[in-house]
Amino acid sequence: MTATVDDVVARYEPVIGLETHVELGTVSKMFCGCSTEFGADPNTHTCAVCLGLPGALPVANAAAIEATIRIGLALNCSIAQWCRFARKNYFYPDMPKNFQTSQYDEPLCVEGYLNVEVDGRTVRVGIERVHLEEDTGKNTHVGGATGRIHGADYSLVDYNRAGIPLVEIVTKPVPGVGALAPEVARAYVTELRDILRTLGVSDVRMEQGSLRCDVNTSLNRPGEAWGTRTETKNVNSLRSVERAVRSEMLRQAEVLDGGGRVLQETRHFNETSGDTRPGRSKEEATDYRYFPEPDLVPMAPDPTWVESLRADLPELPAARRARTRAALGVDEADLAQMSNAGVVDLVAATVDAGAPVGEARNWWLGYLAQLANARGIEAAELEITPGQVARLIELVAAGTLSTALARQAVDGVLETGSDVDVVVAERGLKVVSDTGALAAAADEAIAANPEVAEKVRGGKIAAVGALVGAVMKSTRGQADAAAVRAILLERLGVDES
Ligand code: ADP
Ligand code: MG
Ligand code: ZN
Repeated sequence: MTATVDDVVARYEPVIGLETHVELGTVSKMFCGCSTEFGADPNTHTCAVCLGLPGALPVANAAAIEATIRIGLALNCSIAQWCRFARKNYFYPDMPKNFQTSQYDEPLCVEGYLNVEVDGRTVRVGIERVHLEEDTGKNTHVGGATGRIHGADYSLVDYNRAGIPLVEIVTKPVPGVGALAPEVARAYVTELRDILRTLGVSDVRMEQGSLRCDVNTSLNRPGEAWGTRTETKNVNSLRSVERAVRSEMLRQAEVLDGGGRVLQETRHFNETSGDTRPGRSKEEATDYRYFPEPDLVPMAPDPTWVESLRADLPELPAARRARTRAALGVDEADLAQMSNAGVVDLVAATVDAGAPVGEARNWWLGYLAQLANARGIEAAELEITPGQVARLIELVAAGTLSTALARQAVDGVLETGSDVDVVVAERGLKVVSDTGALAAAADEAIAANPEVAEKVRGGKIAAVGALVGAVMKSTRGQADAAAVRAILLERLGVDES
């Protein structure tokens, strides 16, 4: 099967919707004083409340409520003046109370939006709700081949995570983006992650699960009502968000093409194959027997306090980008290219560290982007700082390094974690401008390639390239190519003018 997203959108219109869970970085849990620290021994951060022992009473964490309201404000939501927690009833061993304290019909924040830029186009993603709930514990199934409960000998439960404050951010359905749907989904989660990071409310590590995403996708024929959605879980990276939408679009199109029906179900994303597998069929809200939580008082955030939180919001990524664009003096297209590569802040920081904009841009969009790509990581995750890149640019400008040598220096910084000047010194990276040394290398190259030398002498000047290459090789890229070429021609007795 070689269908592409473009084939799919020739016949169907996709609709996407994202549900994102964020573990807040509060010091203590949502309804008790237990620590939220990651990585402690199992069940050491527990108490009567988060273990759901009879008679234990919860008290809401004010810092978590404040963080949720700040998230809502950053996402342009209205903040409820009065709302309650609700019990979401279901049995699962990782949830000792047999209900999750969540919010249902009275979320803290509603009706917002987040604008994302994709392909030079601004897409407004509507935010349905932002609500506060608690995380569950963690099950480990031991003995089976797959790590899943099927075939396991026994299961272990760690309640350290149970009761950690969790914010759920639910988008409205996003129609009308056609073939861009996978990129819009990714851009939305990226922008949301950056906002959460800027707010300082969470460490937003997708791989550690402090930011988790469920991706809803449906297809409909043009002019018809929206189709049945599937909800893909286990999407653990930005790239996977994009792949999950794409693979569901392809799979659902195939089902619909064959005259079949898409089932409303939860599906699991497989990181290795990039496709989705069916999970459980979807529960309805009625299955959860939601009712208002009787053990907690309602939340009634004072509007004056909410306004002071709004006034204290930090500069958000979109505003920062606009400022950066003005400061860097680059145009929309240029900025979009840098933004797609995730290097705007890196370029700006490199310029702040003293490099010219053009050079900073070329490094981050060129060699450094290539390296990040090859490693399957974001440019920002490369172990090299904007300051180090600025230093390399300075060394190239001074003629100490050629571009090729500067790349070797980058490799060295990434391999050793040492600073640029240390790598340059340790590896003896510097342009050889000593004419005596270059002349010796040129003579060697001529002696080793007599036919080429003869051609050049005979007037085929272009053939000298092979000799330049030989000298560059023998000097490990440390010679200045133009100087080498001039020396070679001189020694071969060819006058170019
Ligand atoms: P549930 O708890 O059942 O997952 P939610 O209301 O929490 O329901 O989330 C539903 C998500 O699915 C929302 O992000 C919503 O925008 C999205 N959605 C709803 N209808 C569709 C559809 N037809 N196609 C794609 N996504 C949809
Ligand atoms: Mg949901
Ligand atoms: Zn506790």
